[in-house]
Amino acid sequence: MRCSRPVWRGFKMRIPFDNSYAQLPPQMYTAQLPTPVDAPQMIAANADLATILGIDPAEVSTAEAAQVFAGNHIPDGAAPLAQVYAGHQFGNWNPQLGDGRAVLLGEVIGTDGQRRDIQLKGSGPTPYSRSGDGRAWLGPVMREYLVSEAMHAMGVPTTRALAAVTTGEDVYREERLPGAVIARVAQSHVRVGTFQYFASRGDMMALHALTDHVIARHYPQANGPAELLDLVIARYAKLIAKWMGLGFIHGVMNTDNVSIAGETIDYGPCAFIDGFHPDAVFSAIDQFGRYAYSNQPGIGAWNMAQFATALIPLMPDREAAVADFTAAVHRMPVLYEAAWLDVFGAKLGLANVVEDDRALIMDLLGLMTKDGADFTNTFANLGTDTARDQFIDRAGFDAWQERWSLRKSPEAAAVMAHANPQIIPRNHRVEDVINAGRNGDYAPFHALLAAVTNPYAPLTDATAPFARAPSKDEQVTRTFCGT
Ligand code: AMP
Ligand code: MG
Repeated sequence: MRCSRPVWRGFKMRIPFDNSYAQLPPQMYTAQLPTPVDAPQMIAANADLATILGIDPAEVSTAEAAQVFAGNHIPDGAAPLAQVYAGHQFGNWNPQLGDGRAVLLGEVIGTDGQRRDIQLKGSGPTPYSRSGDGRAWLGPVMREYLVSEAMHAMGVPTTRALAAVTTGEDVYREERLPGAVIARVAQSHVRVGTFQYFASRGDMMALHALTDHVIARHYPQANGPAELLDLVIARYAKLIAKWMGLGFIHGVMNTDNVSIAGETIDYGPCAFIDGFHPDAVFSAIDQFGRYAYSNQPGIGAWNMAQFATALIPLMPDREAAVADFTAAVHRMPVLYEAAWLDVFGAKLGLANVVEDDRALIMDLLGLMTKDGADFTNTFANLGTDTARDQFIDRAGFDAWQERWSLRKSPEAAAVMAHANPQIIPRNHRVEDVINAGRNGDYAPFHALLAAVTNPYAPLTDATAPFARAPSKDEQVTRTFCGT
């Protein structure tokens, strides 16, 4: 039996903590240490990210670092805590959520001047665990590591992965599985659901403190809640447009999984579409397709309506605020459509994209839908036979290409090369890597990580297999939260 925390002396890794959330009113979190684990082993560490955070990159992949990222050793300056929040889960209000399997170790101000959280996920129970065990298994940890780093490499705002470790302990889901912890980094972990928690309780002190914190930290240009709302909406509209441009389905766009900083957060049953269909849904728990690919922009606006609602109590004239905030939320689809046009305009290398180009883009997506064309490979190879081969209706595609050629910019090739990844973390590849990891073989994980973090490079013999679409047998049709 483990009775006491082992004492680790002489740790070399220094994390330059500068904690601000821990200074906020006490009802906003619970001080919470991670629960130590038996035998931490390093799976992966992100030296580049460490450097940005001001941590010596040579120190993040050592056996000592594994003790830190597993939560066995609390580094100097950390102030571990679990944050409380609420949220709408699949549209249903849940008044009490929170970090149920995570602790915020603390914050650092990076070499780029940016403040970021370092959070351990899978670090043991907290007062917000409800019936959960506070743990994560290796599969979701590897998936989050791969997908978040791929998203970053593709220019999508996202939380990032600093390290992943196995715990040497088993967790029990439907079966016995190896436990793991991911150390993730975010601009912050404040969610729409964090605002909802305090607004729903009428805790004006905390709601004011949270709003001030978020403005100072993420939107210093905002003068009050109304401007904050506008800025969050603008960031979120752009974020979702980027997801759409990659065929990415988040899978659980609950309000507790919506980052106020506008980053992609909480990679659960997320998936990238292979053969395109706008109604694609992968998550096994998303029975009615609430978070289907094409529903994401509408759900995004719904989520911003919940954010707006949570800000209303801060406004002196509530009636006027309801009207103003409603108008702000209604601007989200307009901002989203403009961002979408920019994203897909770049994917097609269009010259000075204009509203009329929307039909050209939609028509390509229509052809792709009809023939189940591979989303990534169609865009990555437009203008070559590889793209044409995606289509059964070759005549339809050729006619479309004629129209496209009239709108293509002279610099199309260069623009397209940076707008259309060759390699994404395909669902079947991620599953293969997880299966290998369960058998203790992390080489496939590292190979896939290297490929997806260099997504725009021309394919080589070594990387081409990662670009291949799944065969019928390989196709993954269901993904799981699997926490
Ligand atoms: P998610 O939708 O996966 O982001 O999680 C929703 C809520 O469930 C969050 O409050 C999590 O902290 C909590 N949760 C998920 N998995 C666990 C677990 N294994 N133990 C405790 N809490 C969990
Ligand atoms: Mg979550």
